[in-house]
Amino acid sequence: MVSPLLWYKEKQVEKTINSLAKNNILGFYVKNEHELLEKVKEFIKEDSVVAVGDSITLFETGVIDLLRKGKYQFLDKYREGISRKEKDQIYRDSFSADTFLSSTNAITEEGELYNIDGNGSRVAPMIYGPSQVIIVAGINKIVKNIEEATRRVRHYAAPLDAKRLNKNTPCVALGYCINCKSKDRICNSFVTIARQFIKGRIKVILVDKELGY
Ligand code: SF4
Repeated sequence: MVSPLLWYKEKQVEKTINSLAKNNILGFYVKNEHELLEKVKEFIKEDSVVAVGDSITLFETGVIDLLRKGKYQFLDKYREGISRKEKDQIYRDSFSADTFLSSTNAITEEGELYNIDGNGSRVAPMIYGPSQVIIVAGINKIVKNIEEATRRVRHYAAPLDAKRLNKNTPCVALGYCINCKSKDRICNSFVTIARQFIKGRIKVILVDKELGY
């Protein structure tokens, strides 16, 4: 007999992928990093220009390594010794990349992507520019609806990110968001991607793991 937990998870993933499809976003489910990397290779053409948004998940799953070692024109904003100016240029060049990869802060069972961003360099190319956007996310990012997504990101993901970035913000002291006006505030844009004009421009690969936050 399938365990109730497994049954619930499968139903949740199935519902999310079906809802994404209704919004012209293609969803895929993979069991592990190996299957994920095979999917990514399948979607990205050799020699194409690839950019990424800030994401722990892309490092955890080996996607960044794949992009560095593969036959891609990878706009590597993490490369050692990169200057602020070069990084800013990569942010701008990301709009004309063939593929943009990122994770997301939350995916709703209604088929939406929800993100909070600081300078917008992660969410802006998700919305406009690259002809293909690949979102990689652990199933821990699935939530019921936008209300739950907002709560998750605001009181969980954003404080953890502020902590990771060593920011001097109230959430780092308290462990939750107080909608601060701090100089170090990282939450500037609250973005819901609800639908796409072009079917399949955004692809979401759900990995059967807890990844990122
Ligand atoms: S708004 Fe301020 S307190 Fe809230 S999560 Fe963002 S940085 Fe932290």
